[in-house]
Amino acid sequence: MASTRRYYDDGYTQRFSGRIAARGEHAGQAAVELEETWFYPESGGQLGDHGTIGSARVLDVQAAGDGRVWHVVDAAPAGDEADCAIDWARRFDHMQQHTGQHVLSAALERECGWATLSSTLGAERSVIEISTSEVDWRTIERVERVANRLLWEDREIRLHWTDAAGVGRFALRKMPQVDGPIRIVEIPDWDLSACGGTHTKRTGEVGVLKVTGWEKVRGNVRLGFLCGERALTDHAWRTEAMVEGAKKRTLKDRDLIAHLDRAAEERDELAKQLRELREKRLAEDARARVGAPPAPVVELAESRSREEARAFALACLSAGAPWVVSAALAPEPMLMVARAKSHPADLKAMLPDLLAAARGKGGGSPEQLQIAAADADGVRTAFALARTALER
Ligand SMILES: [Zn+2]
Repeated sequence: MASTRRYYDDGYTQRFSGRIAARGEHAGQAAVELEETWFYPESGGQLGDHGTIGSARVLDVQAAGDGRVWHVVDAAPAGDEADCAIDWARRFDHMQQHTGQHVLSAALERECGWATLSSTLGAERSVIEISTSEVDWRTIERVERVANRLLWEDREIRLHWTDAAGVGRFALRKMPQVDGPIRIVEIPDWDLSACGGTHTKRTGEVGVLKVTGWEKVRGNVRLGFLCGERALTDHAWRTEAMVEGAKKRTLKDRDLIAHLDRAAEERDELAKQLRELREKRLAEDARARVGAPPAPVVELAESRSREEARAFALACLSAGAPWVVSAALAPEPMLMVARAKSHPADLKAMLPDLLAAARGKGGGSPEQLQIAAADADGVRTAFALARTALER
């Protein structure tokens, strides 16, 4: 039978004596059904409650399609009757987020004409998807101010029951798609919503509401927001990060972002200068090694990156070397062989022997080969082989 859901009319009972109506399973986990329950089952974007039924811990609460409410437990409680307790910190947090969501959605609609298309009250962050493709911090600031002032007016939240025939007399934000009784949540002169979730009795209990950011989804905007203690916790770490970050650089908090932008620009400029200097030095090194008249270059480096060994080989060719064998033992054992366009050697014909010597992988063209060797010994063997073949 369908469980009586007492939280609909009483969202504040935290402890009660529950009569066990059935023991069963939900999604493969042990679960019990109570004749009447104040536990909230996950629905409408609000997570299910946690708590205890007797000595059993309630891990989740889910409503089945037939209207039964299953309390997923870590072990079946003994007896037919049990003391039940809802994890109130968790539930009250959900009530704050949920009530805040009503207030925020109505504020967005009133201030900007943006409808709320969906909402999810997550374990860490709550989000609503709203009917706009653009949003900015100044608009958010205005909406937040309006929403928070409404919270501080501490308006009483009223519940009404109606049905499909009677729902027309309520000016709802969004028409419900349900059969049977319809529950209306009213924040007087502010919002009327059909909703089965849990809410605070007064708007003041939400405390504070803060939008934390947004992203674009499906051509709409998904806003993240936090209410109550969650907003305070979030504010606490952000403030600490900002204040400590600014302190380390002896800056005012408000100057931190501009400082980080400047530092990033400086870093990019320095990286560019460093790259240019390296290229210049490489070209000079290559010219010195090639000499005059130009001679072939063989170079076996203990440690040189693949990119640097390759750049060195190409710089030697630019400096007039007829051919180059450039290898490195570490960090990646590798070998590069390259020749000038005017040199007749067909390097590709050498590839099978070099791969076998290097016990590696690689490829290339008649003018250029690159081989990743199995290890340093492979590099040494292949290096000697390439050198001998080209010096012949
Ligand atoms: Zn609601």
